Amino acid sequence: MHQHNKLGDMKKRLKWIILCHIFLPFQALAQMHTDDMNYWIEKYQSVSYPLKSIHISSSYGKRADPFTGKGRFHQGIDLEAKYEVVFAMFDAEIKRVGYDPMSGNFITLKAGNYTISYCHLSEIWVKKDELVYAGQELGRSGSTGRATGPHLHLTCRLHGKIENPYHLLTFVRDTQLKAVDALGLNKDVKLSPEDFLRTYAPQAMHQQRKYGIPASVILSQMAFESGWGTSKLARSGHNFFGIKASSRWIEKGLPYSIHDDDRENEKFCNFSSPEESMEYHSRLLMSERYRRCHQYAPTDHKNWLRGIKAAGYATNIHYVRSCEKIINRYKLYKYDYLASKT
Ligand SMILES: [Zn+2]
Repeated sequence: MHQHNKLGDMKKRLKWIILCHIFLPFQALAQMHTDDMNYWIEKYQSVSYPLKSIHISSSYGKRADPFTGKGRFHQGIDLEAKYEVVFAMFDAEIKRVGYDPMSGNFITLKAGNYTISYCHLSEIWVKKDELVYAGQELGRSGSTGRATGPHLHLTCRLHGKIENPYHLLTFVRDTQLKAVDALGLNKDVKLSPEDFLRTYAPQAMHQQRKYGIPASVILSQMAFESGWGTSKLARSGHNFFGIKASSRWIEKGLPYSIHDDDRENEKFCNFSSPEESMEYHSRLLMSERYRRCHQYAPTDHKNWLRGIKAAGYATNIHYVRSCEKIINRYKLYKYDYLASKT
């Protein structure tokens, strides 16, 4: 009896596995590639410049004091900044937030064995002990404390010993260049998840109102599957979800392109716009196969993601976690609430 049950279970599982492989629109192969891509995207996002653009106005080392004219050691670097938003350079912990007559309003981050202080700020938007992501907005530059004008002064310490912050700036540059290179992008590309989200959030909210699929789920899947829009499929065919061309799609004479990065002759849908890609994705999620998800509210992204995964959307075992990470990091659930209110 026991044996029989076990056999039945196995058969059921086998059937399920076979079904998944036949009907999976997003296959493991495309997924493997996505993983690779997302490794580099994460690398890129693990660092950030402290300002939108970097112009050093005074470097580290000996210089004439701007107040007294006497020789003095400048224990950091000054960056040109006129009341601009400042960003965390690394994933970090806010170690200190305060004011002193020299530094003015300052924030000190702790990232590994480094501490980095942002000085002369006009506004501070974070609290002590808070954890921040690289690229997260911390506050606004200014000219508080001992400053002759608005600028951002950075001080950096390694194991408590003062260091030239320039090394960290070049580390940011090198890390991002390496990632951009690995992703096969133009060297001048600045990968900005914020820009990506700003661009596609309105359409995602539109899809939510139309179908009840959480905007956060749509955006996180879109970001994950397309490597924030950097994948070949997204760039050449507006295919942001790695959607394969079914035989019906091809028979209808709809456009597709062949990519053989992982396996030869893989056919993927070409869409005329990102919006079309998003509409196709929504309709897919509204199909019978995902009916389990349809009972959940558009503000319940957790269950939606689990349901999508359970229906066999992706074989990647970290799929739900990866999407959740994107949702939490960029607070995408705010779009779900916004769309369900308006
Ligand atoms: Zn300075």
